[in-house]
Amino acid sequence: MTHAYRLLSNGQLLDLPATLPVLDPATEEEIARVPECTAELLDATVQAAQAAFPAWRDTPFGQRAERLVALAARIKEHADELALLITREQGRPLPMAKAEVMTTVHWLRGTAQLALPMSERTDAQGVRWATRRVPLGVVAAIAPWNFPLTLAAMKLGPALLAGNTLILKPSPFTPLATLRLGELAADLFPAGVLNVLAGGDALGPMLTEHPGIAKVGFTGSTATGRRVMASAAPTLKHLTLELGGNDAAVVLPDADPVKTARKLFMGAFLNSGQVCIAAKRIYVHESIYDRFADAFAETAKAAKMGPGTQDGVMIGPVQNRPQYERVKALIEDCRASGHRFLAGGEVPSGPGYFIAPTVVDNPPEDSRIVQEEPFGPVVPLLRYASVDEAVQRANASEYGLGASVWSSDVEAARAVAARLETGTVWINSVHLLDPQVPFAGRKQSGLGVENGVEGLLEYTAVQTFVG
Ligand code: NAD
Repeated sequence: MTHAYRLLSNGQLLDLPATLPVLDPATEEEIARVPECTAELLDATVQAAQAAFPAWRDTPFGQRAERLVALAARIKEHADELALLITREQGRPLPMAKAEVMTTVHWLRGTAQLALPMSERTDAQGVRWATRRVPLGVVAAIAPWNFPLTLAAMKLGPALLAGNTLILKPSPFTPLATLRLGELAADLFPAGVLNVLAGGDALGPMLTEHPGIAKVGFTGSTATGRRVMASAAPTLKHLTLELGGNDAAVVLPDADPVKTARKLFMGAFLNSGQVCIAAKRIYVHESIYDRFADAFAETAKAAKMGPGTQDGVMIGPVQNRPQYERVKALIEDCRASGHRFLAGGEVPSGPGYFIAPTVVDNPPEDSRIVQEEPFGPVVPLLRYASVDEAVQRANASEYGLGASVWSSDVEAARAVAARLETGTVWINSVHLLDPQVPFAGRKQSGLGVENGVEGLLEYTAVQTFVG
């Protein structure tokens, strides 16, 4: 790739030496280098964002919303280019990368339709009490590598709409589409309102410690989320943390085993399983377990694996080497523990971080593959005897992000859903999110809310006027 990627700081696209290599996970070849933000550039960017804050805060809400819509239009104009960048740096098949770009467009538009609540009343003594929501200042948005653009938009949209200024940081593994978004957005916002800075492992902690930053919107692993919280404590920053998950799918005895298996295959293996809300533990009632397992394994074996740029590919590579090694180690642990593979289990020799979709047959509940979040193309199928038992096992997790219930009786499924301790429960689906509906993790899956009015409020403080 010959494009010279630039950082966006204070309205300027900076031509800096490109030092951070970006690899194609399908080939392990370097496809680009990007500049790395230094501590000095971060200080200057925070100062610019602080300087831009009062005017942006005082810009009418509707005009800020209109800027988000303009950004959505700009992204849509460049959808094919951005999708190819996502496929090259992230690994996902091109049609699914295009879907992420269009989801990002949809998210910015949907966010722009939200409104901030205000309340006002005059009490019996004639005192007027009025409460409004005000922006916080400079926000740092830190994104992971699995859905670089959409997860950035989930922070960028509400932060800017509420009147904050923003510094967006992509993962060092996937900076290209995000830096390109910065280039496309440079003329759409006043200088300093939207800044996009890439960097290596040092940049995240520099942002979370920085005294000039008022709020961190973070998506990533639970382990990193804890570090973010600790490093934000001395300056008492506001935090939204969207973290890991180990979502259970509970397939009730009356579900159609074949249809459900085919749907849940995508629920588990979309983006090679690198989805925070992927189905990661699939509990199937013993009366339909064998038929479900056969259909699920058959679908896994038929899924074409290869580079995301190739036609018909369903399973791309794992995104990066550390994650590839982690998933391989989990598969090795299954083998060493004597668990049976219904599909996959082999890892082709490179190049590329490819792992065939791997299905594990009813491993013990305390095995690593059940207890840990694999975040890769491997999933355990788990046999259960009673619904109470399935609910108990689904809830026995340190995570509480999402879950799904599968049944031909929607009311029965809803009754089971109500007993699951997660932020979202889907009935006969997974992965569905909406920019206007709150999404939040419970337990170790996070803190705070993204999306919807509740998500917007996370980028504000309360201000009350009395009298
Ligand atoms: P990660 O935690 O390794 O990195 C996420 C981001 O944090 C990256 O930009 C990284 O550079 C930055 N970072 C790393 N260390 C930091 C530190 N000490 N301080 C500040 N920033 C730091 O996560 P990942 O491997 O990129 O993403 C995978 C994880 O993200 C999985 O656990 C997945 O479940 C989770 N995830 C959660 C959601 C959700 O909405 N809950 C969505 C997608 C992914």
